[in-house]
Amino acid sequence: MELIILGPPGVGKGTQSLLIADKLGIIHLSTGEILRRAVAEKTSLGLKAQQIVESGGLVSDEVMVGIIREALSKAEMKEGFILDGFPRTINQAIALDALLNELNFNDVKVIYLSVTKDELLNRLMGRGRKDDTLETVMHRLDVYKEQTAPVKDYYSKKTTVFEIEGLGSISDINSKILEVLTRAEVKNEKKTAEETQTFVP
Ligand code: ADP
Repeated sequence: MELIILGPPGVGKGTQSLLIADKLGIIHLSTGEILRRAVAEKTSLGLKAQQIVESGGLVSDEVMVGIIREALSKAEMKEGFILDGFPRTINQAIALDALLNELNFNDVKVIYLSVTKDELLNRLMGRGRKDDTLETVMHRLDVYKEQTAPVKDYYSKKTTVFEIEGLGSISDINSKILEVLTRAEVKNEKKTAEETQTFVP
């Protein structure tokens, strides 16, 4: 199973992605985590990204696409993955399409998690991460609105986006996501079976 999880900062993508990855036995690929680790380890990527991440801006598409290309090319990705934090711009989404095509991942499902803006602010302010000061949070929400929200429309035009409300307990939301994914799989299998049938002479 290959998944992309979209939604504003603070909606719970990271939490839900980890649970989904664990339950489905797929890999959790979080660009935010990759960047935070690079910053902590002071790698050349980390040194380049630190100021951008801590002020709530976006690391360049070129750098991010490079990171994702390298990660998705690993053999272990054949087990399946959930992309969390990427794509975050239309350009990243276009580059990802090409990459998935090239790597033969043809059935990627898109999940969108939503909550109200008030709830987002509460959650972000309560996390205490270095990029969670009021000023940075407001900036991240603006960046999201301008650059990342259009990514959802981009996918809505070409595929089903499974929209799930991120309000309620962590485990309730998780059950909702898994239920939606299972239903989509069943539908897909049915469709394939029907198609096969029509081709029987
Ligand atoms: P959140 O879940 O709160 O949105 P993340 O952990 O996904 O935060 O990302 C933290 C920061 O890392 C972002 O604010 C941004 O600076 C940087 N970042 C993560 N993913 C990307 C990406 N795909 N493109 C550009 N910058 C990114």
